[in-house]
Amino acid sequence: MTTATTTPNSAAKQSSGAPVIQMIGVSKWYTPEFQVLDACSTSVQKGEVVVVCGPSGSGKSTLIKCVNALEPFQQGDIFVEGVKVNDRTTNLPKLRSRIGMVFQNFELFPHLTIMENLTLAQRKVLKRGKDEADAKARKLLQRVGLSDQAPKYPGQLSGGQQQRVAIARALAMDPVAMLFDEPTSALDPEMVSEVLDVMVELAREGMTMMVVTHEMGFARKVANRVIFMDKGAIVEDVPTEEFFGSPRSERAQLFLSKIL
Ligand code: ADP
Ligand code: MG
Repeated sequence: MTTATTTPNSAAKQSSGAPVIQMIGVSKWYTPEFQVLDACSTSVQKGEVVVVCGPSGSGKSTLIKCVNALEPFQQGDIFVEGVKVNDRTTNLPKLRSRIGMVFQNFELFPHLTIMENLTLAQRKVLKRGKDEADAKARKLLQRVGLSDQAPKYPGQLSGGQQQRVAIARALAMDPVAMLFDEPTSALDPEMVSEVLDVMVELAREGMTMMVVTHEMGFARKVANRVIFMDKGAIVEDVPTEEFFGSPRSERAQLFLSKIL
């Protein structure tokens, strides 16, 4: 990977085009009595890194799952590269292939080798030939420092290695944006930094990212903005410096005092 020197990345600030991700007044109910998202609006520009934080159960996972239509919602609209997610004529497999998603528990295919994990969707969804898919996979494994692991199965790798494979697998699809849902929270402490390092490099290279995390060091280092959620609502959506600076909501202050 190339070494970048700027921080946080400046691409977003210069961007004037349409947002990569735009949410307008998104509300969702899991049951008629239980509203999980309450009129959430935000947008993510090309090259922007947005960290989403907030108490457990505040709706962070639900919010990012709505972006690639892994969860339906009842009110509002979400657009990805201008394409409406909540439109029944939208080609969802195609839309999902444009957005990389990395979960807390890696979610690799356990019965496939690392190499097969990295090439399956390239071949099935993007219709790449074996040589092209293999070459892409090798390049990405090298990038995340796992070139020698290609023939192994996920169960033979550490958690940190599996999560780096999951990131490489998502990148193999050449996504326009990457969504991360607490990518380091299932890891043993000594493995957190090897995953965060890959994410920091990705951010500095200009990848558009929405990252649910409580790693505030990561947020300070690379996030352009921080979204703070509470009880299904976006309570704050502010530049990173402002979030860690003085003027902010009591709820965010309380949250920060507990995790910093
Ligand atoms: P977070 O990621 O911030 O911890 P989630 O989006 O996972 O929050 O969950 C928000 C709330 O919705 C929680 O109260 C959770 O228990 C509830 N919830 C999550 N998934 C479902 C589901 N599939 N059905 C019903 N309730 C759910
Ligand atoms: Mg969650």
